[in-house]
Amino acid sequence: MDNVTRPRILVVGAGFAGVGCVRRLERKLASAEAEITLVTPFAYQLYLPLLPQVASGVLTPQSIAVSLRRSRKYRTRIIPGGAIGVDLDSKVCVIRTINGEVVNERYDYIVLAPGSVTRTFDIPGLTDHAYGMKTLAEAAYIRDHVITQLDLADASHDDAERASRLQFVVVGGGYAGTETAACLQLLTHNAVKRYPRIDPKLIKWHLIDIAPKLMPELGDKLGSSAQEVLRKRGIDISLGVSIAKAGPEEVTFTDGRVVPTRTLIWTAGVVASPLIATLGAETVRGRLVVTANMDLPGHDGVFALGDAAAVPDEAKASKGQDGAVCPPTAQHAMRQGKVVADNVVATLRGQAMRPYVHKDLGLVVDLGGTDAVSKPLGIPLRGLPAQAVARGYHWSALRTGVAKARVLTNWTLNAVAGDDFVRTGFQSRRAAKLKDFEYTDSYLTPEQVRAHVEGTGPEAE
Ligand SMILES: Cc1cc2nc3c(=O)[nH]c(=O)nc-3n(C[C@H](O)[C@H](O)[C@H](O)COP(=O)(O)OP(=O)(O)OC[C@H]3O[C@@H](n4cnc5c(N)ncnc54)[C@H](O)[C@@H]3O)c2cc1C
Repeated sequence: MDNVTRPRILVVGAGFAGVGCVRRLERKLASAEAEITLVTPFAYQLYLPLLPQVASGVLTPQSIAVSLRRSRKYRTRIIPGGAIGVDLDSKVCVIRTINGEVVNERYDYIVLAPGSVTRTFDIPGLTDHAYGMKTLAEAAYIRDHVITQLDLADASHDDAERASRLQFVVVGGGYAGTETAACLQLLTHNAVKRYPRIDPKLIKWHLIDIAPKLMPELGDKLGSSAQEVLRKRGIDISLGVSIAKAGPEEVTFTDGRVVPTRTLIWTAGVVASPLIATLGAETVRGRLVVTANMDLPGHDGVFALGDAAAVPDEAKASKGQDGAVCPPTAQHAMRQGKVVADNVVATLRGQAMRPYVHKDLGLVVDLGGTDAVSKPLGIPLRGLPAQAVARGYHWSALRTGVAKARVLTNWTLNAVAGDDFVRTGFQSRRAAKLKDFEYTDSYLTPEQVRAHVEGTGPEAE
C-alpha cells in the first residue's frame, strides 16, 4: 500500500479517550498501513481530575497540560482546531482551525472523542455570571479571581462590599464540585494569614447541590466522612438546594436565601460535546449511542467513546444490570481509547472487534491538604491513606514521565514552601464566565454541515 492510498483515520479530541487511542494506533499500525490525524484545539492533553489543584495553586497549569508531541512513536498529523460538524454520508469532518479557517477533512475511519461540556440549565443569569471548572483557562482564571476578591476586600472600606467579596458559592456536590470547594477553601484559609485587615470569619464558602447527598457513589459512610471534613473546615453545605437566579453581585438559592457574592462556580454535571448533535444520529442524554465495540451501527468506520458516547457497561450487564452505560469518567475514557484503537486496527485488517469491558476501580477524592476520601476496589479510606491513594492513582495515570516529574515536584514544593497567592492579573481586563470558555456556540446544525460539505452553505465561503 503506498502513502497516497493509505486509509485515513481521523481522531477528534485529544483528551483521555482520543490520546489513548492515538498512542495505541501509532504503536500498532505501521506508517504504511494508515495515516493518523488528530483534531484538537489545544496542543496538550488536559489531566482534568487535577484541575482543582491548579485552581488552588498546588499545581502549576503546565504540570497537568501533557504534551501531545512527546512520545517515542509520535507521528500523527495534528490539525489545530475544533471539529464543528460531521457528515456521516460523505465521510467528511468540518473543522474550524484556530485561525478561524473552515476546512473539510475527509476520512475513512473516524474516532469521535470530543468529551463533554458543562451542563447548564435555564436559570436566569447563570451562563453570564457563573464560572466553570472544565478547562485549564477556567482553573487559572478562577485562582486569579479568588485572590482578586481577597485583594479588593482587603483594600475596601465598604463593609457590604467586603462581605460579598468574601463569600463564595460552588454548585455541584459530585467529585468535581466537592474537590473544587474543598481545595479553594483551603486556598483562602491559608491566604488570609497574609491579609491582616481581613477578619477570617467573614470568609464563607457554600457548597450546594439539588441531590440529597454529596457524591452518592462513595456510599453513605464515606460520603458523611467527606461532609464532616468540609463542615469542620467551615464550608456551609446545603443539600436539596440549587440556584434560582444569578447576578453580578448576588446569587439567589432555591430555598429563598440571597447570598451576596462575586463568585459562583458551577460544576453541576456535564453533557456530551455539541459536536455529537451535528451527526443527526441516535443519542442518549446527548451521548452518541454506540455498541459495546464502540462503533456506530449502520455506519462503517465510525467510532465514539469517552464522555461523548453512551458505551454499554458490559461489566454491569454481566451482573444483570441491562441497559447501563459507562459513567463519564477518565477511568473509562482512557481504557476505551485503547480498545477503540484495537477495533479500528481490527476493522482495517478485516479481523473481529472486541467489546469494551471494565469493572470500575472506585473513586478518589482529594479534599486538599491531608484530607481525602477514597474507595479503591471498594475499600473505604479516609485521611492520609486516602490521600496517598488519590495522589498515587493520579500520578501513575499521567501519561508522560515529564508530567509525572512536574506534578511530583509541584506537590513537594507546595508541601514545603506553601503558596505565595500571587495574582497574575493576566485576565483582569475582561470578565470571562461559563459562556466564554467552552465555545458551545461554534457548532453547525446537521443541515449546515451537509450544505457546507456540498459547498452551498455560508460556512463554505
Ligand atoms: C474537575 C474535574 C474532576 C474530575 N475528576 C475525575 C476523577 O477524579 N476521576 C475520573 O475518572 N474522572 C474525573 N473527571 C472526569 C474526567 O475528566 C472525564 O470523564 C474525562 O476527561 C473524559 O475523557 P474524554 O476523553 O471523553 O474527554 P476529555 O478528556 O474532556 O477530552 C476531550 C478533548 O476533546 C477536545 N475537544 C472538545 N471539543 C472538540 C471539538 N469540537 N473538536 C476537537 N476537539 C474537541 C477537548 O479540548 C479535549 O481535549 C473529572 C472532571 C472534572 C471536570
